Amino acid sequence: MNIEEIATKIRESIGKRKVQTAKFHLMTYSRDWSPREATDTQLPDIVVRPTSTEEVSKTLKIANEYKIPVVAIGGLTGMGGGAVPINKGIVIDTKGLNKVLEVDTKNFTVTTQTGVTILNLNNELEKYDFWCPHDPESKPSSTVGAAISCDNDGTFGIKYGKMVDFLLNAVIVTGTGEIVRVGHRKAYCTSSGYKLHWLLIGAEGTLGIVTEATLAILPKPETRAIEAFIFPSISDAAEALMRLLHSGLSVESAHINCKNRLGFYTHAYRTKHGKDPDIPEWAGALLFVSFNGDSEVVNFSNEYSKKIMKLHGGEIVKEREIVDGWWRSKHTLEFEPFLQKWPDSQRIKKFGSADLGIPIGRLEEAYEKYLEFTKKHQIEILGACVYNERPNKVSPSISFAVFVDDSNPDEVKRFYNYVRDMSKMAIDKEGTMSTYIGDGDRLGGFNRYEHGISLDYMWELKKVFDPNNILNPGKKFKSKWIKEY
Ligand SMILES: Cc1cc2nc3c(=O)[nH]c(=O)nc-3n(C[C@H](O)[C@H](O)[C@H](O)COP(=O)(O)OP(=O)(O)OC[C@H]3O[C@@H](n4cnc5c(N)ncnc54)[C@H](O)[C@@H]3O)c2cc1C
Repeated sequence: MNIEEIATKIRESIGKRKVQTAKFHLMTYSRDWSPREATDTQLPDIVVRPTSTEEVSKTLKIANEYKIPVVAIGGLTGMGGGAVPINKGIVIDTKGLNKVLEVDTKNFTVTTQTGVTILNLNNELEKYDFWCPHDPESKPSSTVGAAISCDNDGTFGIKYGKMVDFLLNAVIVTGTGEIVRVGHRKAYCTSSGYKLHWLLIGAEGTLGIVTEATLAILPKPETRAIEAFIFPSISDAAEALMRLLHSGLSVESAHINCKNRLGFYTHAYRTKHGKDPDIPEWAGALLFVSFNGDSEVVNFSNEYSKKIMKLHGGEIVKEREIVDGWWRSKHTLEFEPFLQKWPDSQRIKKFGSADLGIPIGRLEEAYEKYLEFTKKHQIEILGACVYNERPNKVSPSISFAVFVDDSNPDEVKRFYNYVRDMSKMAIDKEGTMSTYIGDGDRLGGFNRYEHGISLDYMWELKKVFDPNNILNPGKKFKSKWIKEY
């Protein structure tokens, strides 16, 4: 394949300065945040930096003609290898598609290009006293397009849900370069047609490049209150949370941390204040909750929640520093395990994780397996955190996090063996092997095990959008890391 010929064609089509082939430009796109050795990175052949849907379309038409792979790139903070150009080819850096096109406060929608970061989108909405409550920790870098394509978790999932709850319509460019609007404009509900826009959720750029999206937005809440409670175990905390939701209170966020993670919070307190916080030995889980809304409702919710937590064996965390530390970590990525500020710490020991969806009744079993498999593969535990990502439900999306030194090839190998065992365990427990990272190039080999014959239907669907399999090939369906189960 003559790369210079392809690059020249794209340059002629969308402009010289938007297309690069020099190594200096390619280097930035060789990896994402997934743990991987330096030898497991890949330079693309061509970098394209479009600013409009039409330019993406022109690029894809040429790519399709030459059958060269195309990978959409957001902030490259993905943790599953989704944006790594493992088959080389063209990367389309979407960050130039960063215009917020319309804020419609009457119909409660925003229409935006998808290369805008989640933080910048919300900064724009703030001018109107609105917000889009999708709030991943990586918001300063991660984009709207990637949030759709990875089905990300956010801090406020238990009240507002995920992108599937926000996405009303999207403009995509298919593998043949066709521009298609999918979804239903500004209505919040529809039973008309197929919900093709929902197919994009978690598709990791394998069905189309999402260039524009219309999302549901809300007025910003007046105030919020945040508390933390300790419980003997993760399932005790989950039960109390369930009771809280059944009471009729509207919980804004609810994250349950395991004993190990609790240890990081108490350690941070000890280091700062020179004394232990008042956390008893029996504490095996730490539940953070917040409420938002009008101050009267928030105050009531906060007080009522204390009553319910107490009734269910919970004890309030008295040290405000611990509560504030958690909130800060959600918004600044300052977290005790990363003693140095992000991103420096990640270059030494990376945060790696098996992100699993586990049925509620099996939380403890899954946690036991986490302890077992980290020991088996000699991987250092960071701790488990149970996020809840469906509105008004205890809906565990669990990050079983570990430390990985990805300058050590043996440790990287052991990490992926750990991920393999955890993924299989999740599927065997009627859960799912990925809740917010996607399949990337790590989990494709398990898709048969999780999805059975429906994987063949997925492949047929992919061919409709991308007949020549140029869109992010090697992701979702195959993996060199993990053999097919
Ligand atoms: C410190 C840290 C904190 C994190 N916190 C969270 C968190 O709280 N919640 C969470 O869910 N995740 C979190 N993540 C993971 C990561 O941020 C998310 O997966 C995020 O969606 C990646 O966004 P990105 O813009 O960096 O995407 P990239 O890594 O660039 O791409 C991710 C995938 O999306 C595809 N893609 C990107 N843009 C498009 C597009 N326009 N059209 C089609 N496909 C596209 C790519 O091809 C790739 O497959 C965190 C990661 C880090 C490093």
